Amino acid sequence: MTVDLHNHTKLCNHADGEIDEYIEQAIKCGTKYFGFSDHAPMDFDPKYRMSFEQMKQYENDVLKAKEKYKDKIEVLLAYEVDYLKGHMDERVLNPNVDYLIGSVHFIDEWGFDNPEFIGNYENQDIDVIWQKYFDAIEEMANSKLFDIVGHLDLIKVFKFMPNKSITALAKNALLAIKKADMTIEINVAGFRKPVKEQYPSIDLLRLAYDLDIPITFSSDAHKPEQVGLFSEEVIKIAKDIGYKECAIYRKRKKEFISF
Ligand SMILES: [Zn+2]
Ligand SMILES: [Zn+2]
Repeated sequence: MTVDLHNHTKLCNHADGEIDEYIEQAIKCGTKYFGFSDHAPMDFDPKYRMSFEQMKQYENDVLKAKEKYKDKIEVLLAYEVDYLKGHMDERVLNPNVDYLIGSVHFIDEWGFDNPEFIGNYENQDIDVIWQKYFDAIEEMANSKLFDIVGHLDLIKVFKFMPNKSITALAKNALLAIKKADMTIEINVAGFRKPVKEQYPSIDLLRLAYDLDIPITFSSDAHKPEQVGLFSEEVIKIAKDIGYKECAIYRKRKKEFISF
């Protein structure tokens, strides 16, 4: 993919490989804009993210690599921030970065995408879980704190699908995303999960296209060898829907790149 804006580093404690290895793999794949958006620190769930003390090191390492590879690829610096009320810290919301991805990984502090807590799906109405998830996405968009929505329909990760129409469940969230002038990513991590497809679904992408919501692309790589996988599939999906351009951000300013 020409643009690949969501990738991790080993600082989050659940990814492997060196920053240079991710970038070299991206160059091999023909990527022109490659963003690191590692999990931002948070006082909740600290095990799966860098610490506040590591932010400077992360930013310095990415900026050093940006300079090192500047003739071959443009490296961008970002964070993936959890939208979780009561746990979003000023230190991650106002850093000097290219963009912030806002993601919902928790419903009422339940890590619904973590296989460790998969048992919780049995105790609740699946339609209620899905609606709570998209309500959190809507709230996140209304907060206007972020530039890009991370994996818009992550709630499908284990393929526990709702009975209600997904576009109906997600409609208000998409309207809020449009109103907040946010971008959604087509994220290939879903191909590596039980759901076996990109986030978001084709139906949700069509709805986003009708609402004129921009897209971008991401590997969501947690290992260098995951960079650039499934890019042909998602580019075809985006083109078939009608998209011709995708967004990048520099210092929180959006620009469009044709793909
Ligand atoms: Zn991760
Ligand atoms: Zn995520």
